[in-house]
Amino acid sequence: MSRMIDNLPLALETGVCAEHGSFNFRYQPMGARFFVADSCPQCAAALKVKEQNEDAARRHKEQQARIERKRCDAGVGLRYVQASFESFIAETDDQAKALADCVRYCEHITGGGHANLVMSGQVGTGKTMLASAIINNLLEAGRRVRIAKLGDIVRRIKDSWQKVGNQSETEIIRELVQLDLLVIDEVGQQRGTETEMLLIFEIIDGRYQAMMPTVLVSNLDRDGIRDAIGDRAFDRLRQDGGKVVAFNWASMRGMRRAS
Ligand SMILES: [Zn+2]
Repeated sequence: MSRMIDNLPLALETGVCAEHGSFNFRYQPMGARFFVADSCPQCAAALKVKEQNEDAARRHKEQQARIERKRCDAGVGLRYVQASFESFIAETDDQAKALADCVRYCEHITGGGHANLVMSGQVGTGKTMLASAIINNLLEAGRRVRIAKLGDIVRRIKDSWQKVGNQSETEIIRELVQLDLLVIDEVGQQRGTETEMLLIFEIIDGRYQAMMPTVLVSNLDRDGIRDAIGDRAFDRLRQDGGKVVAFNWASMRGMRRAS
């Protein structure tokens, strides 16, 4: 803009907004013409707030998506991607105790502890949900964690023998051993073969040697788990203070809030 035009006086006029009533506005010079510089200031302010809110909502949504992607990458199923300790509704003393045990365990790991944990109980008692809540919390704390079904771990390693995928058995096991927390879900879902027991021992022993905590989730009781993973692996697990949390009630499914 030239100096001459800059120096032109601005005309003050009154406008009427259908919503906010009358307001003052100015004609502002633009080259050889004038244009309306201001619309209703209240409308403009409202639009700005609306845009800011939309912006915040979009950012929040993007952040949620990022968190969910991180949880899925850590092996958390879609069903439990929102799982938190708050979404576990304890209605009995046993349930409250199991919840408290899991919260305390999570704090123990966050605080640098490396004790193991066994979550044992029937289908539908909320084990995987609470295990996922532990994972979700630790991800929040910036830890490298993973939850995986034992069958999937074994399948992945066996696949590597056929050169399926681009990781060798050693690389897969090293990756599992180095995680800040590994939750092995569905332990004992199928009868363990000699080979599977060997692989489980390698993982649990590797983590024991590296002083990394492991959580086992199983529908079986203590003896059943020992049978499923073998004495050596079970003893290793117990060596680093393997506390057993018993989920000894009938299925909670249906009583539970959507998760
Ligand atoms: Zn207005």
